[in-house]
Amino acid sequence: MKRKPLVAGNWKLHNTVADAVKLARAIHEATASATCEIVVAPVFTALAAVHDALAGSHVVLAAQNVHGEDQGAFTGEVSAPLLKDVGCTYVIVGHSERRHLFGETDNMVRQKVRALGRAGLKSIVCVGETLEQREQGATLGVVLGQVAASLAGIADADFANVTIAYEPVWAIGTGKTATPDDAQVVHAAIRAQLERDRGAKIAAVTRILYGGSVKADNAAKLFAQADVDGGLVGGASLVAEQFIAIVAAAR
Ligand code: PEP
Repeated sequence: MKRKPLVAGNWKLHNTVADAVKLARAIHEATASATCEIVVAPVFTALAAVHDALAGSHVVLAAQNVHGEDQGAFTGEVSAPLLKDVGCTYVIVGHSERRHLFGETDNMVRQKVRALGRAGLKSIVCVGETLEQREQGATLGVVLGQVAASLAGIADADFANVTIAYEPVWAIGTGKTATPDDAQVVHAAIRAQLERDRGAKIAAVTRILYGGSVKADNAAKLFAQADVDGGLVGGASLVAEQFIAIVAAAR
């Protein structure tokens, strides 16, 4: 089954509102004929302005994080209904920077995926091993464990709104990329686990993105792998020409 590829730009903690709007417009204008789904994830403070700038666009809006509760005494947090209210379609959850710098656990990621499901939002659920874990030969155990724990209890009916992003931690922002073959091994293992846990139909339609120093010059080979359905792009998504070239590599 052919899955529509998705290329998402994670802008992390970069860009003023004006810069974010400019970047979103440049991406919109240059990608009208793209055949993949295109997602941009600005900082919270730029979401409303980027949403307005993208009105009617094929480029869709994502947030970079969400809280697991819908409302309450959670100072400094943002909820799924509020992200929906501001025009988001997707939310990235469990990014390795959230897991490693802010102590997010699989349990917290699961709460967030559930909150997004309640709000009718789509999640991009990040998983990935550290360099130490890879060197110990623990990659598949770690990654498959994160997938299972982060998505435990999510109803099959809500799975249509779940995209998984395999992002080896050692490849994020480092310039080191998994080889296409290495990425494919992990992606295929994730899909095989989905098939065991969720059945062949869900496994066949769930998109699994690769993330970790995706650039214009390595994207095509990564995206050509059978189980790689596009990319989650950090650094290269901040430069319009680079991101546009990566989008062009996803077909
Ligand atoms: C990311 O932030 O998800 C990411 C993959 O970053 P980079 O492309 O810079 O490695």
